[in-house]
Formats: sequence, C-alpha cells, structure tokens
Amino acid sequence: MRSVEIIVVGGGPAGSSAAARLVAAGVDVLLLDRERFPRHKLCAGWITPRVVSDLGIDVAAYPHRFLSFRRLHWYLKGVHLPVPCLQHSIRRFEFDAWLLERSGVEVVHHAVKDVRADGEGFVIDGEYRCRYLIGAGGTRCPVHRALFRDLAPRERALQTATLEIEFPYDWRDPDCRLWFFEHGLPGYSWYVPKDRGWLNVGIGAVALRLKERGDDLREHWRRFAEKLDDQLGIRVPEEPTGYSYYLRAAGEAARRGNAFLVGDAAGLATRDLCEGIGPAVQSGQRAAAAILGGGEYDLRDVGAASLGGGWITRAMDWAIHRGEAPRPALP
Ligand SMILES: Cc1cc2nc3c(=O)[nH]c(=O)nc-3n(C[C@H](O)[C@H](O)[C@H](O)COP(=O)(O)OP(=O)(O)OC[C@H]3O[C@@H](n4cnc5c(N)ncnc54)[C@H](O)[C@@H]3O)c2cc1C
Repeated sequence: MRSVEIIVVGGGPAGSSAAARLVAAGVDVLLLDRERFPRHKLCAGWITPRVVSDLGIDVAAYPHRFLSFRRLHWYLKGVHLPVPCLQHSIRRFEFDAWLLERSGVEVVHHAVKDVRADGEGFVIDGEYRCRYLIGAGGTRCPVHRALFRDLAPRERALQTATLEIEFPYDWRDPDCRLWFFEHGLPGYSWYVPKDRGWLNVGIGAVALRLKERGDDLREHWRRFAEKLDDQLGIRVPEEPTGYSYYLRAAGEAARRGNAFLVGDAAGLATRDLCEGIGPAVQSGQRAAAAILGGGEYDLRDVGAASLGGGWITRAMDWAIHRGEAPRPALP
C-alpha cells in the first residue's frame, strides 16, 4: 500500500487548485483521477476576472484559447439588455489539463471506488493511505459518497439539469448571450463563443421544478436549437450531452476531521448563474490553506451568488427556485 500525507480525488479546477498550493508548500501529495487529461468536461467555460486573479493566470502567457467578452446580452421576457462587462471564456478541455500540469502534482490514473476512514487517516481502494483527504471528484465524488452523505446530503431542490454542446464554429459575434426563463424554463440558455473558432451553446434548469411542471429539458433544447438557427443562423451539428450538478445550499458541511470537500463535490456553484469554476478554485485553495495552516476551513465568503447578492440576485433566486430550497447566506 502506498502512503502519502495528502490525497486529492479529482483533478478539475477544485482539485488542481488545492494541489497547486500543497505542492508549492512542499507537502507530500498525490492526485487520483479516473480520467486521463486532457479530458472532456461539459461546461460553458465562462470564467470571471476573479478566477483569473485567484489562479494568478498571466493571460498573455496562457497557451490555449482565451476570449474576453466586452458585452453580455441578457434576454428576459422579450427585453434585450446589452451590458458592458469584462468576462472571459476558455475551453475546459484545455484549461483543466493546463491547470493540473501547472500544479506540479503527481497524478495517478485511478477510478476511486472505496474510501474508508482508518484512525486519523483514510484508505482508498486498499491501495492508498493518507492522513488528509480532499474530495474534489465533482457531483458524484466518492469522498462525498463515503464520508459526507449523512452530514451533507444532496439537496434535490438545488440540482440543475443541463444540456450542451461545444463545437468548431466560425462565429462572427464575439459577445456572450443569455436567455432567461424562455417558454417557462426555470433556468436559462446560453451562447458562449471561444477563441479561434469554437462555440458553446447550452441550456440549464432546476431539475425538480422541471419535473413539477411536467417539463422536458430536451423539448426546451429543441426550441432553443430552432431559435439559434432562425435568429443567429447557427446550425447545431449534433445532439447535446447532459449533466447535472448541485447549487449552493445553506450551511453546507464540507469538512469532517481530516476530510474536506471542495468544488462541485461540496455543491458550491452559485444559485443565480450556476457558476462553479470560481467556487471550485476558492474552495480548493482554502482547503489547502486549512491543512497547511491548521486553521478553519471556512467557505462563508465563497460567494453563493454571481450577481453580487443584491436585489437582482434575490429576484433571480426567486424566479429560479421559487423560495423552495433553503436560502443560503448571500453572497
Ligand atoms: C453544462 C454546464 C455548463 C457549465 N458552465 C459553467 C460556466 O460557464 N462557468 C462556471 O463557472 N461553471 C460552469 N459550470 C459548472 C462547472 O463546470 C463546475 O462547477 C466545475 O467544473 C466544478 O469543478 P470541480 O473541480 O469541482 O469538478 P469537476 O470539474 O467535475 O472535476 C471533477 C474531477 O473528478 C474526477 N472524478 C470523479 N469521480 C472520480 C472517481 N471516482 N475517481 C477519481 N476521479 C474522479 C473527474 O474525472 C473530474 O476530472 C457548468 C456546468 C455544466 C454541467
């Protein structure tokens, strides 16, 4: 059995952010991921300036696709609102692999199945032993499943369902577009261009509210694809792929002794725009700091809202969740 001080399960932005801090501090750390990188990850790949600064990315030196939007177009009940902004897009296929490599962590290709507490530490699949464990395995993280299911059960009312596709496309429109609540969708659809001829389009909604309405996300997708074709002249080349994840709940429990949950494993995506990369990075960095400094693992200031937590966030929260889910502390 191999023994290390810290094991990180999952090499997405949450896991690589934690690993980068731990490696920089000279700690003995190993990262396990069931996929070989670069790996496909469903995601629009919109990132905020905060993500860029938290990760200390020198944009000029970033070797892959990176596009900055100067305008975000909101569409709400027939109203079109172009908002000046500075936001960015990346391709997750490239971004995650680059972050993981940059972290310098040793990565082992291993699908984690069994996680057990063993004294002060943990044993994984009878093959790896560690003193600290960071669960960064996304929605279906095996660390959550084994150690946190009772402490932090998944909140069904906060589960999102998504459909999306990313494909090579010679776009002419460099702005990001978001359509809210079309045909009663409890969520939104998006158009996110990527640098050098790629495009991501998708649709996301609260799964429980869709079910209550007897609604079908594929039917919403069909209408969205028609709109893209009719209004923007975009033919989506194939069927989209689906994925689901959880938005930020109130009072989440993300630490149990020496085990930590970060990113989607902890259900940290924002409740208004379902933004998960920023919270993944911040929580990964905080988990590493808590291990290194022996301090608290405090997620209170990891924002539960992308839109600042003011009245727009509250209105969005109501429109999407109808107050059915427990309210988190905002932002
Ligand atoms: C359609 C869609 C669009 C989105 N768009 C955006 C967006 O534009 N902007 C934004 O900020 N957020 C967006 N999100 C959310 C964002 O993708 C996630 O919040 C983010 O990826 C969370 O990062 P993570 O590191 O926690 O998990 P992940 O990126 O999911 O990484 C988890 C890793 O764990 C590994 N893993 C899982 N199980 C195991 C196992 N058993 N053993 C070993 N390894 C395992 C996986 O292979 C994976 O590499 C979107 C999500 C979806 C589904």
